[in-house]
Amino acid sequence: MVTANKGVGGVKPVILKKKCPAQANICKAIIACSNNAVIYVEDDKEPLGGRIEIDYTKCSGCGTCAKECCGMAIKME
Ligand code: SF4
Ligand code: SF4
Repeated sequence: MVTANKGVGGVKPVILKKKCPAQANICKAIIACSNNAVIYVEDDKEPLGGRIEIDYTKCSGCGTCAKECCGMAIKME
């Protein structure tokens, strides 16, 4: 069974949707995550047509995505 990994410090990245333009082609966090845990999900119900999501089953809680995020839209908590 795959369980969510909160990382060594027990923190995980949370996307602050109001700050995120949700554009896969400019998302630095997607590129920054070596675990491929930052993903773009198309969803017509979203105002921007999609959203950036974290796959917590792949996330190690390293915090790199939060450092690289272009819009300060990822918070480690
Ligand atoms: S880098 Fe951050 S603000 Fe920019 S699209 Fe990705 S998650 Fe959103
Ligand atoms: S905390 Fe690390 S492993 Fe988790 S999504 Fe961000 S960059 Fe990827």
